[in-house]
Amino acid sequence: MNAALLVFAGAVVGGAVGWVAGRRAGRDRAEELASEARPVVVPGLRMDAEPTLEGALRLLVNEAAAQVDVPCAVALREQDGGPIRIRALSRGDLRLVDREVDIESLAGLVVTEGVPKVERARPFLHGLGTRDRRRPITGSLGVPIVVGRRTFGALIAFGEPAVGSTAALARLDPLARGYAPVLLPAMAADIEERKAHTDVLTDLANRRGFEKQMARLKDGPRALVVIDIDLFKAVNDQHSHAAGDQVLRQFAKLLKEAVRDGDTAARIGGEEFAIILPGGDLALGVEVAERLRSQVEARVFFADGDQARLTISCGVTASPVPEAQASNLARLADSLLYQAKRGGRNRVVVAGPRGLPEGPRTVAAPGAGDPSPWVGPVAGGGRGV
Ligand code: GH3
Ligand code: MG
Ligand code: MG
Repeated sequence: MNAALLVFAGAVVGGAVGWVAGRRAGRDRAEELASEARPVVVPGLRMDAEPTLEGALRLLVNEAAAQVDVPCAVALREQDGGPIRIRALSRGDLRLVDREVDIESLAGLVVTEGVPKVERARPFLHGLGTRDRRRPITGSLGVPIVVGRRTFGALIAFGEPAVGSTAALARLDPLARGYAPVLLPAMAADIEERKAHTDVLTDLANRRGFEKQMARLKDGPRALVVIDIDLFKAVNDQHSHAAGDQVLRQFAKLLKEAVRDGDTAARIGGEEFAIILPGGDLALGVEVAERLRSQVEARVFFADGDQARLTISCGVTASPVPEAQASNLARLADSLLYQAKRGGRNRVVVAGPRGLPEGPRTVAAPGAGDPSPWVGPVAGGGRGV
């Protein structure tokens, strides 16, 4: 922890007993607390450094967990009336981060009602749609994260030791109050940042988002699939540009469903897309690309009431690869894609070692990656070739 920043906010030390009882009592208490503006020390937040949302949340959950000695989480609501999502966890299943919580869950109620709550019976994670085989953690408590009249989050402690502990609420509340004025602008900046990295038409990552994710993974292992819709111009010509947009949105949905949490699906050009599979190898890249290729081929897309058929061409690479091309994975994938087009479209071209699983239309590029024999050309090209 670095220097401390004094943030003016309401502080509460004790007397938490009354305000867990019910909504009304909670609101009265909250109003009372709001009038007691006192400086609260926010450890670890430096005055000269504007923390990122992720950084500030991590500090908050860790600090909260240290104070109450049980795991802690923060749920945030970016827009009034919008979804409430878990945004940070001190420990536990990190896959829950970004998951939407049920409005009736403890976190949901704390945010919507803006008052502290204690939940004794239901598991903290209920409503998250997870089928967790482990014993559910029963019991949780939480305090709202508020600036002015806006409740935009909840700081939650979960696990039995927390339940019934009014001392835990009394510890969490000053933390929530101290961090709230830091979290609100950080959340706004985070929303802007996400907008800048998101494609408006499809809601996938855009090229900037794609490049950011590639840079974030540095030299770490990943598989990369680049995809170009075959002869897409014909869809626009036969239907309309608006219908083409509609088809692109359907295609993007398919792409989203084809990847798992943690993977990135991006629209990197007009009708060009990419999938980044962190930790994935070439075999995984081929599997994902081939599955997508066959799904697209089999499926009917809708364009302004008409039906449209599509095929795609894919280039697949993975990092690390033994060859020099690893330094520019994306360019390599592009050149493979070009080979897929030249080879007749509706196919996957892969750079990589021998012995890869090869789909019905997966071919290895000559001289790419580990020297592999050229397998193909595969019979039957894309539409109209
Ligand atoms: P190829 O198989 O060689 O990729 O053929 P293609 O027709 O897909 O490729 P080309 O690069 O010639 O044309 C791409 C087309 O994609 C042309 C353009 O009108 C269309 N396109 C690009 N972006 C958008 C978009 O945002 N919306 C719509 N509706 N069409 C788009
Ligand atoms: Mg293209
Ligand atoms: Mg195309």
